[in-house]
Amino acid sequence: MVAYKCFNCNKEITESLLRKRVRCPYCGSKILFKQRTTVTKVKAR
Ligand SMILES: [Zn+2]
Repeated sequence: MVAYKCFNCNKEITESLLRKRVRCPYCGSKILFKQRTTVTKVKAR
């Protein structure tokens, strides 16, 4: 599942909450960024 995070209120928003509109259901902000569910580890060289 793709999870988003609101840039304004910093709440997690799942795709099911958004439905078709990319908008925060909590504060109405349109600025959301995608959250990666899988953490990518960066290996040090
Ligand atoms: Zn918000």
